[in-house]
Amino acid sequence: PTAPSVLTMNGHLAGSGKNLSAEDFEHGVQIIDQDKHFNENLPAYLQFGGIIRAGFNYHLISVFGSQSTGKSTLLNYLFGTDFGVMNEQERRQTTKGIWMSKNRKEHAQESHRMAENILVMDVEGTDGRERGEDQDFERKSALFALATSEVLIVNIWEHQVGLYQGANMGLLKTVFEVNLQLFLKDSKNIPRSLLFFVIRDHLGTTPLANLRETLIQDLQRIWSGLSKPPGLEKSQIGDYFDFAFVALPHKILQPEKFEQEVQRLGTRFREGYKDPKRAGLIDEDAEPILLPQYHRRIPADGFPMYAAGIWEQIDSNKDLDLPTQQELLAQFRCDEIMKEVLVPFDEVVAPLEALQAEATAAGRPSMIAELGKKMAGARSASLAAFEEEASRYHKGVFKRKQTELSEKVDGRLKTLFQNQMTAAHKTGINDFSEAVTTAVKAGQKKGGNYDFYKIVQTEKERALKKFEADAQGSLVAETPWSDYKQQLKLYRKELDEVSARLRREEMRRLATRSERWVKQRLDESIGLEFNKLGSGRAGSGAPAEGTPPATEKDIWDRIWNAFTDTVSHAEQRFTQRAQSFDASPDEVEVGLWRLRRKSWAALRGKLDEEMMEGNLLLKLRENFEDKFRYDDDGVPRLWRPTDDIEGVYTRARESTLELIPLLSRFKVSGTSAAPPLDAWIGEAPGNVTAADEEDLQPIGGLDEEEGKTLEDEMTILSDAKAQDLSARFKKTADGVYVEAKRSAIGGVTQ
Ligand code: GDP
Ligand code: MG
Repeated sequence: PTAPSVLTMNGHLAGSGKNLSAEDFEHGVQIIDQDKHFNENLPAYLQFGGIIRAGFNYHLISVFGSQSTGKSTLLNYLFGTDFGVMNEQERRQTTKGIWMSKNRKEHAQESHRMAENILVMDVEGTDGRERGEDQDFERKSALFALATSEVLIVNIWEHQVGLYQGANMGLLKTVFEVNLQLFLKDSKNIPRSLLFFVIRDHLGTTPLANLRETLIQDLQRIWSGLSKPPGLEKSQIGDYFDFAFVALPHKILQPEKFEQEVQRLGTRFREGYKDPKRAGLIDEDAEPILLPQYHRRIPADGFPMYAAGIWEQIDSNKDLDLPTQQELLAQFRCDEIMKEVLVPFDEVVAPLEALQAEATAAGRPSMIAELGKKMAGARSASLAAFEEEASRYHKGVFKRKQTELSEKVDGRLKTLFQNQMTAAHKTGINDFSEAVTTAVKAGQKKGGNYDFYKIVQTEKERALKKFEADAQGSLVAETPWSDYKQQLKLYRKELDEVSARLRREEMRRLATRSERWVKQRLDESIGLEFNKLGSGRAGSGAPAEGTPPATEKDIWDRIWNAFTDTVSHAEQRFTQRAQSFDASPDEVEVGLWRLRRKSWAALRGKLDEEMMEGNLLLKLRENFEDKFRYDDDGVPRLWRPTDDIEGVYTRARESTLELIPLLSRFKVSGTSAAPPLDAWIGEAPGNVTAADEEDLQPIGGLDEEEGKTLEDEMTILSDAKAQDLSARFKKTADGVYVEAKRSAIGGVTQ
């Protein structure tokens, strides 16, 4: 037997390889040939007839009856088909196997219009000369027709009515038997069938009602004679079949009447709803025949495969199991339909997936615009198309396959969504960090008076809003995967982390600014103190009321005070600023501690600069000259030979020389001890990190591991240096003295 052909949704026949045209279907299609082969061109025929996409909107009618009883002739008249008719001269059987053709009759009158998409099967007659006593095909074709058709037309001569032993009755016995066999398999789903008796060559002497009575009695007799399977012993023929009867005049003797009656009969092949009062019996009135309860409910696109499967089972003498066939069909067709609906889905989704894969490979996050809209469109289109096509099949299979499809679709969409959210996260964090940095830079350019806290808050809010908008634009409403609460939580968390990092950076900037400010202030104020040394009268200028006049002796007190004042001022500003952007007390504490240490280093640097040999020598010389050359009132001395030049010189020199040990060590005048630098800087806060300490210079007395004491830290000039400096200063002073002496003598000489 031919393998069932595979039918795609477009009705293209896979595997047939032939291009079939209208000519090939002139006589319909031979579904089953004389060798009992199933025709693989059935899908192509349904496609050709425009039926393949009709869903349930089609009908299948079969005709039975003895050989040469005018069956094909009747069908051709009724449905405008072109089934082969026996040639009058040769009287040879023409119909081989089972042929199918679509109704070609158009009825002009709307009220007489036939149903759409009627397919007619012309089943080879029995007791044919060609087949002899071969009952095998008769049984198989009866079973095939019964399993697929809504209406079974039984064609019978009037004179055969009542001939219980006649060939027709044998066929009907077969039909009833196979029906019981089918019914046993699936009592719930086997629909009723209509047996429609067409009595030919009706002479009119016996009324149709009588003929009908006779036939029904015969049918009941056949039924009671059947050996019924257990459980169905009491069943009635009417439980499975409806009957209808019509009589047609003699075609040869009354050709006009024949055609008229056939025309009338045609109008009964229209859709109709069963009148419950007439249940079981549709009368000879022109009642509609195609009642919904007869429909086999096999979607048109699945019919070729279903029919092929059934024929294969029948032909291989297997028990025909329609429910299993329908389930197999449903599985096959649902898989096919799924493939079909995934094609347009793929066309939308695959490029998006490629885009993301590329971006991921390149290591840069990439957002897909209007992702949600694109995904929703592709999703609903494929799910809707599947529902429309596949829901006509076995409900259980359909539901299962529908779930499979949504899982497939949603699995891919979920990945797209999650990648998109990852991209939104990464770009969002980047943008946030950049926006804050840019705003800070702009603020710095405008003079540094910006509100860091507000910048961060504003940008954070903006980033969160953007993320939510991105998420909303990337999801598909009412899907289980379109939830971004978790991602939003992670995003918020990282925003907070980045904020903390940016704040630490801002703290560093603030610290740098504070240090620079301290350094500038110290440069000025300490420079000034040292400049005062040069005047030799540190106290020159009126001291403020109530304060003792400044002397060289308390230069260190003044430096210490100026230093601590400056730093404490800077500390205040630092604290204020840091608090304004929500720095934690711990962060502030570390910042202040660092500021004090850095400030001390700055002061120490400034002192070293002032104490550089050349600078200091110059200061000492100025100091000495000021004391030597000017009197106590600041008036320049004009040396006369009588003057005690040597005495003035000695006093001035000794006074200046005293500065050297004084400047050699940083000490507080009251106690002569080092200033309380250690206490002033304080212990390192507990939460100081290695990074915080990285750029700090060691300070003697504080950082024990350096082995330097506070005394060391406060030593500005080593003893050796101080001695060297004294010697060099003395030489300079001597020079000044000699010059003065000379000028005094010279003044006299002149
Ligand atoms: P089938 O074998 O049952 O399909 O019979 P055909 O349609 O091939 O017809 C067999 C013969 O019966 C042909 O010679 C027809 O002309 C003839 N025939 C067709 N319809 C009628 C009819 O209504 N009455 C009579 N007496 N002969 C008919
Ligand atoms: Mg025929």
